Amino acid sequence: MATNKTFTMIKPDAVEAGNIGAITKMIEEAGFTIKAMKLTKLSSERAGEFYEVHKERPFYNDLCAYMSSGAIVPMILEKENAIEDFRALIGATNPQDAAEGTIRNLFAKSIEANAIHGSDSDENAGIEGSFFFAGTEKF
Ligand code: GDP
Repeated sequence: MATNKTFTMIKPDAVEAGNIGAITKMIEEAGFTIKAMKLTKLSSERAGEFYEVHKERPFYNDLCAYMSSGAIVPMILEKENAIEDFRALIGATNPQDAAEGTIRNLFAKSIEANAIHGSDSDENAGIEGSFFFAGTEKF
């Protein structure tokens, strides 16, 4: 069943480049409501846990090092059809394939340092949101 919620995080490259405000503005202007948000940093162990599903992929170690290299901004977002609409807003994984005007097209540096994460299913949005916000107040 659709929850109308998704999980995102602004990744270290985009935080470092000073794009938190620009990206958050695009998210809100696209009709998403921010339900939870913080500035935090992952240890490489926690990054490894978050990306556990990619453990067998050749880029897993690089990805964990990158994702723990700087601050990130995780958020829980709400909108009708949130998962699909947010994946459309961020664009393809590789910024070279990301459609014009998408967040990754505008802000990503590479296939790895691709500015932002977006959950791919309701189930994962729930798991990923809890990973960062379990026990915190919900709005
Ligand atoms: P997403 O759902 O679009 O984020 O893509 P995936 O779930 O396939 O990959 C998770 C994350 O791993 C991506 O957002 C990138 O940061 C990184 N990634 C994906 N493919 C590659 C790759 O081929 N090389 C490297 N270095 N990183 C990758």
